[in-house]
Amino acid sequence: MPAGTVAAMSDDNPSTPDADDAAFIARVEAFHAEHCVRIDDPAASGPGSEDPEGLLAARSYQGALAHAGLAGLTHPVEYGGAGLTAHHQELFTRATANWHRPDAPLSISHGMCLPMLGQFGTHEQKAAHLADLIRGTTIWCQMFSEPGAGSDVAGLSTRAVLDGDEWIIDGQKVWTSGAHYCDYGLVVARTDPTLPKHQGLSMFIVDLSTAGLEIRPLVQMSGARGFNEIFFEEVRVPAANLLGEVNQGWNLAVSMLMYERVSIGAGGGALNAKRHPELIQLARDLGRSDDPVVRQALAALHISEEIKGFIGQRIRSAVAAGRVPGPEGSIAKLTGALLARQARDTAMTIVGTAGQAFERNAAGESDLRSTAGRKWSGFCISAAGISLAGGTDEVQRNIIGERVLGLPKEPDPFKGAAWQDVPRS
Ligand SMILES: Cc1cc2nc3c(=O)[nH]c(=O)nc-3n(C[C@H](O)[C@H](O)[C@H](O)COP(=O)(O)OP(=O)(O)OC[C@H]3O[C@@H](n4cnc5c(N)ncnc54)[C@H](O)[C@@H]3O)c2cc1C
Repeated sequence: MPAGTVAAMSDDNPSTPDADDAAFIARVEAFHAEHCVRIDDPAASGPGSEDPEGLLAARSYQGALAHAGLAGLTHPVEYGGAGLTAHHQELFTRATANWHRPDAPLSISHGMCLPMLGQFGTHEQKAAHLADLIRGTTIWCQMFSEPGAGSDVAGLSTRAVLDGDEWIIDGQKVWTSGAHYCDYGLVVARTDPTLPKHQGLSMFIVDLSTAGLEIRPLVQMSGARGFNEIFFEEVRVPAANLLGEVNQGWNLAVSMLMYERVSIGAGGGALNAKRHPELIQLARDLGRSDDPVVRQALAALHISEEIKGFIGQRIRSAVAAGRVPGPEGSIAKLTGALLARQARDTAMTIVGTAGQAFERNAAGESDLRSTAGRKWSGFCISAAGISLAGGTDEVQRNIIGERVLGLPKEPDPFKGAAWQDVPRS
């Protein structure tokens, strides 16, 4: 077992793994040594790309992981999982912390949709979908946000009306990450507008190739196409695709947001990879490691990443003990968002002006500074989005204020009113 990983584990947890744990960790490490590079390796491609190459790498990694019996660790074998425990999941997360896992395009599929289906799916739904989802053969997205409902997602307008044994969905979603390469999505829609806004919602499994559903890409300022608008025009969804109970969708949405916050703030994989090892190496390679400002920024980043690691460990321990994380998810998510900005600033300090303008020679090649500049400028542009996805920093602070600090709830003049009677633009 490589010494670096053992040292990292014992820093976080002084207890020595028993023989079974050690054998499992060795299996995980051997797999990653064969299929991945370490996070401080210049070949590690950063937070993860959703271009065709990045997608191929994610699918191939996930397929190999499943083949090795290391995917869907906590899901039952009958549904394609490994039938192991949350403790094994924690060992896996910690043992892979120093490896670059090319799984960013699967982060919503595995961080949110998989646990939702595992927790709320019927036997038929799990039998139909879980194994493919675990292997990465199908990829899923989350369709909550709408043009008129982001932070106030419970106010959403997309309608679902029952017609025989089908639901007919009409409306629009926006900011749907990855929908252009996904096969299915979990959609929240309003099934009873006469109820107060939190009570008339339901969640559906929707096949993205269904007639009447149109996916339009949104192009970001970086040129990337991470998001989409999705239009539903009389999209017919089998009644069997309802996830959970009719009009109980808000409870499911809260669970899914909790999974999202834990995934962004405390999960493993590319989304939560520590960035200081790569940046320390970069500072050395660019001759910046003697600069006291750079050294201080790197030390501060290292400390923040360790603290975030402890927050994540605390949440994962709660999950392993069978508890559902509450506002800790918001603390982790907020910490992750602040940390992304800190990593962005540190990276920009190191690469300097190459973070704004990078060069290629006539043969299209770049020097080290330009290559690093291009890579970290992409991260720089995307870092702000982490403060929005999964609920903005302000929303997380509201949750922490109300549920941790016991501050009074925000006033709501329409509390208890039927959704259809609440004025909206
Ligand atoms: C990278 C990224 C990925 C995303 N992926 C998805 C996805 O896959 N699926 C999906 O459904 N959505 C996705 N979203 C959308 C995301 O959930 C919303 O952007 C987010 O919930 C905020 O909603 P909004 O953009 O409508 O902003 P608004 O809700 O309009 O907020 C505007 C501003 O007002 C502030 N604000 C709003 N309400 C309050 C309040 N009560 N108190 C204090 N301040 C407040 C906000 O903090 C924000 O600064 C993604 C967003 C990003 C950036």
